[in-house]
Amino acid sequence: MVVQRFPKMNFMTAIDDLVAQNGASIKAHGHRIMPTEPSLQLAVLTCMDSRIDLFGALGLKLGEAHLVRNAGGIASDDAIRSLLLSQWLLGTRSIMVIHHTRCGLETFDESALQDEITNELHVKPPFRFGAFADVEEDTRLTVRTLRESPFLSDAEVRGFVYDVDDGELREVIVPYSNFLKP
Ligand SMILES: [Zn+2]
Repeated sequence: MVVQRFPKMNFMTAIDDLVAQNGASIKAHGHRIMPTEPSLQLAVLTCMDSRIDLFGALGLKLGEAHLVRNAGGIASDDAIRSLLLSQWLLGTRSIMVIHHTRCGLETFDESALQDEITNELHVKPPFRFGAFADVEEDTRLTVRTLRESPFLSDAEVRGFVYDVDDGELREVIVPYSNFLKP
């Protein structure tokens, strides 16, 4: 079954162009053997949005942090899987949650989209999409979910909202509760 909601662009051309540009970047990269463990002991969980350049916005460099991205930057099972591996095997401790303004997940209703897709494709998605109405509230929810996950260190999980229009990062304060992990 082919899901086709938008006019088809010439995707092969876009991918071919990117592959060609890799050739130009090899020289700048040079031959470097970097450790697999991120040097800042940091993982960032954020949205897949095409307007967020984490390296530019945070001044990050290669080898410094794990970047876990999904639609919305939500604490899905798969995000927690990645963060658990990041901490357990590769020594990260801090988690930075970055949601952002004008996110695609603010533009639809969860159950309406579930129904639409189920009706069109005749199969019900076995996951939530994570639609939200308030980006700050959803950032708090994601931070709390990670802090309370029995699989993750609660040493430091902080939340932020990134403004895709002016590039500013703003912290969303989430007080630590007295919740104790088992
Ligand atoms: Zn987004």
